[in-house]
Amino acid sequence: MAKVDTYIREQIDQFELDVKQKNTLGGLLRLCHEHLDKTDDELITRAFKLCCKSHENDVRASGEPYYLHPVEVAKIMAEEFNIDDVSVVAALLHDTVEDTSVTLDTIEELFGSTVKHIIDGLTKIMGVFENRDTKQAETFMKLLLSMAEDIRVVLIKFADRLHNMRTISHLPKQKQLNKATETMELYAPLAHRFGLFKIKNELEDLCFKVIDPNSYKFLVRKLREKREAREVFIEEFMKPIKDELKEQNFTFEIKGRSKHIYSIYRKMQMQQKPFEEIYDLFAIRIILEDPHTKEDCWRVYSVITDWYTPIPKRFRDFISVPKANGYQSLHTTVITKKGRKVEVQIRTRKMDYIAEQGLAAHWKYKEGNNSGSSELDKFVHWVRDVLEAPRPDAATEFVKDFQLNLYQDEIYVFTPHGELKTLPNGASCIDFAFEIHSEIGERSVSAKVNGKMVPLRQKLKSGDQVEIITGNKINLNPDWMNDVVTHKAKARIRQFIKQKERRIANEGRELWEKRAARGKVEISDQELTKIAKKFKFNDAQEMFYEIGSGAFDVSGLYKRVKELKSKGRIEDEQEESQKQSEETITDEYYTTARSVGDGKALLVDGELSNVKYSYANCCNPIPGDNVIGFLSRNGDVKIHRSNCKNAHHLIRTDSERIIDVSWAKNIDTQFLGAIKVVGEDRVGLVNDLTEVLSKSLQTNMKSINVSSEGGMFEGIITAYVNDLKHLEKILRKLQKVNSIKTVMRYE
Ligand code: MN
Repeated sequence: MAKVDTYIREQIDQFELDVKQKNTLGGLLRLCHEHLDKTDDELITRAFKLCCKSHENDVRASGEPYYLHPVEVAKIMAEEFNIDDVSVVAALLHDTVEDTSVTLDTIEELFGSTVKHIIDGLTKIMGVFENRDTKQAETFMKLLLSMAEDIRVVLIKFADRLHNMRTISHLPKQKQLNKATETMELYAPLAHRFGLFKIKNELEDLCFKVIDPNSYKFLVRKLREKREAREVFIEEFMKPIKDELKEQNFTFEIKGRSKHIYSIYRKMQMQQKPFEEIYDLFAIRIILEDPHTKEDCWRVYSVITDWYTPIPKRFRDFISVPKANGYQSLHTTVITKKGRKVEVQIRTRKMDYIAEQGLAAHWKYKEGNNSGSSELDKFVHWVRDVLEAPRPDAATEFVKDFQLNLYQDEIYVFTPHGELKTLPNGASCIDFAFEIHSEIGERSVSAKVNGKMVPLRQKLKSGDQVEIITGNKINLNPDWMNDVVTHKAKARIRQFIKQKERRIANEGRELWEKRAARGKVEISDQELTKIAKKFKFNDAQEMFYEIGSGAFDVSGLYKRVKELKSKGRIEDEQEESQKQSEETITDEYYTTARSVGDGKALLVDGELSNVKYSYANCCNPIPGDNVIGFLSRNGDVKIHRSNCKNAHHLIRTDSERIIDVSWAKNIDTQFLGAIKVVGEDRVGLVNDLTEVLSKSLQTNMKSINVSSEGGMFEGIITAYVNDLKHLEKILRKLQKVNSIKTVMRYE
């Protein structure tokens, strides 16, 4: 292993750059030194070389060598975000794992685990953006935050998109429109939410140029025509202010740039005003260089208002009360002698930095539902820290400390049409199905996650695309209760279980009524309830349920009713139990079972056992299963699997009737085992399944029921097996049959 890795490193370090590449690298390093606190030249050089080498045969749509794209993305990381050299390295490598043969292991070996994690995160979120309904920018942001563990992943994604938009003219028109629409709907609002206003503005202008080239050109021309007049006006307006500020020893920069093109256009549209009216609303920004403080902003404010008349209504103090995203500035609108309104913004260099490209002016969740989370606290602390005592290294510290796990409680998954759904963490495909529609949930047969067949109970994670395959009949399984977390799914499954219990109870009642009619016994509902209580059921309904499910024999009930009827009347439980508690069948058998087991387990099918027993047909236990015995009221011991739902019910309600049982060593009877197989349907599948059973496993099949729907195959096979080992062997063999996705024991 170590040998191979050394070899890769040597290979990269010895990679010869051509003259153009050398110059490009030199430019990038200069930029890093200019904008970053510290730069690891060696690491960046190595990343640059790997980038050149791995993309050596790739060409961009423009015809340029591909490596220039990652380099430009890296430059954006250094220049626009100026976080750290790790981001620059990761940006250089951002397309390598996805597009070339470079592996994550190699990345880790050469650049360390942080770079690896960033690249991994980028590769993971890559697919999430393709062909989605991008109008849900807000949910997308949460999705991004829940998937990307490192904020640098998100920032590189923005830088990547920015460069792709800057070079979009090389793509075919249709692709340009696609990308531009997606960027406008998704990336620009996201950039806004992250507080990346500069990036957002540039993205919007680039999109606007593609989407509405005529309006774009018109506005560019207009702006060019007006530029000179504008500069003259600003010059005149600021002249007295500048002089006064210099007099008072202020160091500052004045920005009089117009709004970005797209926002002028949007204002024209929204306010239905001509270009001139929008454009003429000047905004001038005065940025105080370090080490000026917020108090100095107020002094500048007083200088300005000495010269120009302020409009009181338009005054805003975002310094004492920063905006939710951390934005700080003083805003005032003043009127010139000629009656022209000018908005003046006053802020320090640091405030400007945070407003335009700071890391975190950033996001602040309006929803406020995370106020209790410690991560958010950490974040808020950090913002306050930066705002109050700006430190150059704060951003670097921040990305190290702050893990983007604000949305750990939720996951974000896609429908096949790219629509986003929010689910609680831990949700399965079943939850998803019920979330779409309860009917989809009830009929779901199987699921595909990211195009692959998975069991319905599979848990989902953010970014998954989920498709539910449904049958034309209800397929709801009470066991699903263990695999769901949403209220919606739980409620429906519970309702289903109730309905099923009612149906079974009704069947039980019918069985009883037939038996009673045959024996010409007449009994009122009231008397039935009393009888049920004698048998220690809660009510008649529960008794009928047990009859319906085969756990309680109807002839046992009949015998007892006959017996009691012959005594004339059916008494209340208390009265009767006092009189004859000694002689109940239950107790008789209870004693028998105890004596046989001698305090130890009752051996099923062993020579020791002379107790009547049978296997519960709700769970079909087979030797090897963990089992418990249940002493039924008419005398025999029913063997259940210990994980059987009915058994659990019995343990809860009738624990004194549970008997410890275990399997004898040698059992030569055969047992019925049921197996469920799900897969993609194909010709000859049933044949292959039966072949495996009969030929390679010498197993006799009792039945096979198959259904096929939308290319999906589902089969229930019952077969005679010796024991659990035998059954497990069958499961393993069936799993290997071509196109079979899941094989499980069927209850
Ligand atoms: Mn890229």
